[in-house]
Amino acid sequence: MSREMNLILMGPPGSGKGTQAVRLVEKFGIPQISTGNILREAVASRSPIGLRAEAIMTKGDLVPDEVMIEIVRERLARSDCKPGFVLDGFPRTQKQAAALDKILIDQGREPVRVIALTVADEELRRRILARGEGRADDTEETAARRLEVYRRDTQPVLDHYRVQLRSVVGTGALDDVTKRILGELGAAA
Ligand code: AMP
Repeated sequence: MSREMNLILMGPPGSGKGTQAVRLVEKFGIPQISTGNILREAVASRSPIGLRAEAIMTKGDLVPDEVMIEIVRERLARSDCKPGFVLDGFPRTQKQAAALDKILIDQGREPVRVIALTVADEELRRRILARGEGRADDTEETAARRLEVYRRDTQPVLDHYRVQLRSVVGTGALDDVTKRILGELGAAA
């Protein structure tokens, strides 16, 4: 039995990772580590990383691996991650996945569990555009680009986790999706 609740939520943009991550935070008392949120805060505060990331994010491309890996290494080392964490938006490339393996070993962590949310393409596009107003990268053009980048760089990462990967249908009522995730984690709703 593992004591730590070390989770990775995978899935394309618009699959509901952020929404479900917040629910897992409440359920397990672990922090959400959303690399997208961390970057958006960096952009808002005009920090060096934010200034570097802004144009890349607006285009829907990926921020360089080295930058992301350092952000996550530092974040995972904080004491609030002791009982576990839910990573949302990382790893997004094979290089990030390999780096995360090493970080977790270096930090003496238990293995991660990986949940992949699945949602059909049409529905993803619809959701991203509906979310539109709040985010600079939720435009039609960028949504298409982000899906393309997901297919090219992030989908192969699912294979990295094939042993522990559990797929969960990400459509339907939010509560039902949460229940499916908890079911896969062997936790009662
Ligand atoms: P998200 O909120 O997860 O959709 O992330 C928004 C944007 O931040 C992405 O489209 C990327 O430009 C950038 N980003 C977030 N996480 C990562 C990551 N792990 N690697 C590279 N870029 C990222």
